[in-house]
Amino acid sequence: MCWQERNITFENGIYFGYPLCCINEFIDDLSKGESPHRRNKLAGIKTDGAFHPCRKHTQDILDGKIKIEDLIDSRVCPYPFPYRHSHSIR
Ligand SMILES: [Zn+2]
Repeated sequence: MCWQERNITFENGIYFGYPLCCINEFIDDLSKGESPHRRNKLAGIKTDGAFHPCRKHTQDILDGKIKIEDLIDSRVCPYPFPYRHSHSIR
């Protein structure tokens, strides 16, 4: 993952209101060739197809401490989670 992809992914995460810990871990996982999507699918966590909670938040969801919706904050996207629209922030 090049720096441009990292920046776009980071900006998308901010746009959709995802927590910084989840965005950064998502980018790190992709950079290491790991699949956050596969991890969450195996854990049975339903997302909007783009948001993949970090390991800590995945465990919190699985433990019933929080719901995935609780993680979405300061969302710029006008559609409520889990709805998205295609956008270009560049
Ligand atoms: Zn997180």
